[in-house]
Formats: sequence, structure tokens, C-alpha cells
Amino acid sequence: MRACIQCRAPIKHEIWSCAACGWQPMSQDGLVCMAPAMLADHDGYHEPLFEEYEKLEATHFWFVHRRRLILDVLQSHFPTLRSFMDIGCGTAENLKAIEQRFPHARICGGEASLQALASARNKSNAQFIQMDARALPFTAAFDVIGAFDVIEHVDDDKRVLAEMYRACRAGGGLILTVPQHPSLWSHLDDAAKHKRRYTYSELLGKVRAAGFQPVYATSFMSLLLPAMALSRLQQRLKPPKDAVDDGFRIGTTLNRIFGGICAAERQLILAGLRFSLGGSLLVAARKPS
Ligand SMILES: [Zn+2]
Repeated sequence: MRACIQCRAPIKHEIWSCAACGWQPMSQDGLVCMAPAMLADHDGYHEPLFEEYEKLEATHFWFVHRRRLILDVLQSHFPTLRSFMDIGCGTAENLKAIEQRFPHARICGGEASLQALASARNKSNAQFIQMDARALPFTAAFDVIGAFDVIEHVDDDKRVLAEMYRACRAGGGLILTVPQHPSLWSHLDDAAKHKRRYTYSELLGKVRAAGFQPVYATSFMSLLLPAMALSRLQQRLKPPKDAVDDGFRIGTTLNRIFGGICAAERQLILAGLRFSLGGSLLVAARKPS
């Protein structure tokens, strides 16, 4: 059900407005805008990156691999998913894929950037809301809630996980991807406004502390970890001038080669292998019934 972000009272009617405390979100460009302060204060994200990423998300090996793994985990752990919310949906490339895989599901995308949401609305029929991941306007509303490379942007990631727990239905679940290994920290993490890269135990510990029971965890971008570590080392010795990873500016041939390596990694993961090292970490967890 919908819930007031100020007083948590249920909102039963179609219009977003709280009968209990009078809270009402503003509307901008036809979007419900629940976190107007975040439009001016970009502490957690670097808006120009959305534009850069949008050109890459459909075809770049890293985005394609992450999306396939997310769909695999949804399919195997939440095959009857009827509702899904993507926290920090960006320009909705993942949301679009989830919508296509689960065509009967009710899909919702939340995102702080209006610029990203403007693109997102062109791609998907999901419900979109401009909002703060630390104040979700839902209680027990979705079968599964996802956040793909989002919580590392937030100082208080525990609060985001607590909000995801509240917005998730009992028996439903959570799916997360995050950057892994603090030792891989580079200026790119600074540029992307990351607050941290996670260790396995830190992320699993926080997921459990929020009340979820982890059911699945694997690193990914594991086979390409040596290439990634090398690239980070190079960048440390000779820092690039802008915020975009060299790995995002590769040609089509290299993209195809790396895509092939990622496809092999996916087959190993599908066969049951779990990686403990890798540029990223994927976790699925359940909210107890
Ligand atoms: Zn209220």
C-alpha cells in the first residue's frame, strides 16, 4: 500500500496526499516529485553520468552482463513475481528488461534525478516517482524490490535497506548489486560519488540487519577482475581528466570480446558456481513470511 513519507500513514485514495498529516508531493513535468531538495543537491549522484551511461546501457558488456544476471536471479528465486520496484532506476534500462520478462507485473521506478526520469518515461510504461531512496512512499507493496548500484551512493545505506524492507511484502524479496572490494577504490568511485565499495561480509551483514534473509550471493565481473585491477592501477598512476571509466569507452571489438568473457562467466554462474572475488557483488534476500 502507499504510505505517507512524513508520518507513514496509509494513503488509500488514488491521489498522493496524506489525510493524516496533510503531506502532499509537488508535481513537476507531470511527475510526482517527492524529494524536491534532491533536485538541487546532487550529493549522491553525478547527473551528467546518466547521459553518458544511457548511451552505453543497451550494449556495453558491463551493463548487459549485470542485466542478464539480475533477470536470471529474478527468474530462479522470484518466478511468480507480480510487482517490482526499482530504487534508483536511472534511465530505466533494467526496468524495461524486467517489464518484458514479467509482462503481467506491476512495475514502479523511483529515482532522484528528473533528467534520468525524463528518459525513463520514454522507454517504459512503469509508474515513475521522483523520490529519495531513504523515504519510500510504500508499505508492504511489492513482491520484489531492487537497487542496482544504488546504495553505495548513500551515506545511510542502512536506512535505504530498512525502507526497502518496509516497502517489501512478507515472503517477498530484495535484489541488490553493489561495487565490491574497497581495495579497488579509485577516482572513478569519487567521480561517481560512491560512499563506499562493499566487502561481502559488510553487505550481507547489512542485509541481515535490515531483517532480510540472504538466499543468494555471488560476485560477478570476476573473470575480468585482473583487467579491471590493472586498469585501476594505471589510472592511479596517471589519473584521467574526467569521470568516465576508460572501460566505458572501448570500441566494438573489445566490447564483443569482453561480452564473450562475461557470457562465459554467466554460464558458470548458471551452472552453480559462486565467485567470491569480482568487481561487483549480487545479493538476493527474502523478507520472512
Ligand atoms: Zn502523513
